[in-house]
Amino acid sequence: MKRIAIVGSGISGLAAAHGFLRAGHRVDLFSDRTAEQWLRESRPTGTAARFDLALSYERELGLNFWDDVAPQGEGVFLTFCPTLHNPLVTLIGRQRRPFQAIDVRLQSARWMDELAARGGNVIIEPVSAERLDAIAAEHDLTIVATGRAELCRLFARDDARSVHTTAQRNLAMIITTGGPARFDEVPLLPVRFDFLGTDGEIFFVPYFHKDAGPSWNILVEAKPGSRLDRFAGAKSGAEALKILKNVVAELFPWDAAFVWDMTLADPLGWLVGQVVPAVRKASARLSSGRVVAALGDTSISYDPIAAQGANSGIKQARHLVEAAGDAPLDEAWIDATFESFWAAHASAAFTFSNLLLEPLTAPARELLIAQYGSDGRADNRGGRQRVANAFFENFNDPRTLTPAFTDMRRARQVVAEQTGGRWLWSGVRGRASIARDQVKQKLSRLR
Ligand SMILES: Cc1cc2nc3c(=O)[nH]c(=O)nc-3n(C[C@H](O)[C@H](O)[C@H](O)COP(=O)(O)OP(=O)(O)OC[C@H]3O[C@@H](n4cnc5c(N)ncnc54)[C@H](O)[C@@H]3O)c2cc1C
Repeated sequence: MKRIAIVGSGISGLAAAHGFLRAGHRVDLFSDRTAEQWLRESRPTGTAARFDLALSYERELGLNFWDDVAPQGEGVFLTFCPTLHNPLVTLIGRQRRPFQAIDVRLQSARWMDELAARGGNVIIEPVSAERLDAIAAEHDLTIVATGRAELCRLFARDDARSVHTTAQRNLAMIITTGGPARFDEVPLLPVRFDFLGTDGEIFFVPYFHKDAGPSWNILVEAKPGSRLDRFAGAKSGAEALKILKNVVAELFPWDAAFVWDMTLADPLGWLVGQVVPAVRKASARLSSGRVVAALGDTSISYDPIAAQGANSGIKQARHLVEAAGDAPLDEAWIDATFESFWAAHASAAFTFSNLLLEPLTAPARELLIAQYGSDGRADNRGGRQRVANAFFENFNDPRTLTPAFTDMRRARQVVAEQTGGRWLWSGVRGRASIARDQVKQKLSRLR
């Protein structure tokens, strides 16, 4: 049995705490807030929609308390507009297993209480750098999972892996109730993804709010200075929601009715800000020479565009727990464990996330064209549907399709595999359908 200290009661720290506890270790979890404070006084740190690979670890740990009540997201309903009011391509993809987005405040509160009930020690204390040193002296492994808060600066940025030095999007997140339960146009419960090449993206995520239950969590990813970039000055969630309704009516009018009756779920249920995507060194040496490990957002900060942060944090927690054997959990172990996590999962997730921040690549365009006409029906086994499904499955496991987004040969290979060897025909047919639908749209505007 090892003595494990974890600082931070977000999704990553708590998943690791439960994992280490279940593996038979002694766990001390340090949190700057109580479960009650998570519920009543906190902002959510993000939407944190999770896909099957992450959710399956939560289930293994017996932490899936909301399976029977939370909306089960089934797929994606994407409209791609290269320019304003030009919905060129739609994609309706279905995932093999559902995704879920649970209010992280509810989740942290419940997972903290559960940790204490299972025999973990929960210590309420904001940990300073000096205190961290004292904690590290008493434990075999000390993990810092404090998100992007102060302590993450202990870990040096990995310049070779980080790619960006500035935020690529200005973000707004608003949790709403009172909207429709579904999008009537599609036969599944989707994350609605409006993609405007010139300005940014809006996501409508089916969500389980701590008080209101089923609801929508809306994420705006605005390119700085664009027409979407209007939320920075919002003083309240109600104001942010008002801006959102105007933005949707102006830029994505087909979804205006969907947001019209929405109200703010709770006064703290919103955020504006930015994330500078970054990979940090796995270990940090404190002034005493003791070493601590980074986990979750402290280790890798993702822009939320590809919904990878919480998924990656859970996968990393699992990786750490499973790598811990009898050998000392020292600096060499921390660094080697991160390297194997990077190779196995995070490199693909980080690349995928960064790719979505950039203009569409030519191979990605090829995939979008090949799937055109997907309808998301569960009984649709056709090639176009399979390409659309593969696109959304990549959010669950970014190792599957990410390499194809930058490699035309691989993209065509994927299309050929999914459509029974007809990538050329899929491309021709896709382009013809898009052209036909564009003409129809233009004619309908003339009427
Ligand atoms: C708008 C937005 C939308 C997002 N959407 C998604 C999504 O759909 N899917 C997805 O996978 N990811 C998403 N993400 C990312 C995801 O929310 C984060 O990756 C995830 O919540 C990070 O969890 P964490 O436990 O690493 O850190 P955090 O959630 O930041 O938790 C760390 C916690 O540590 C505690 N703490 C901090 N400092 C101290 C200290 N000194 N002492 C003690 N305790 C301390 C605090 O309580 C803090 O909340 C989104 C992010 C944003 C901003």
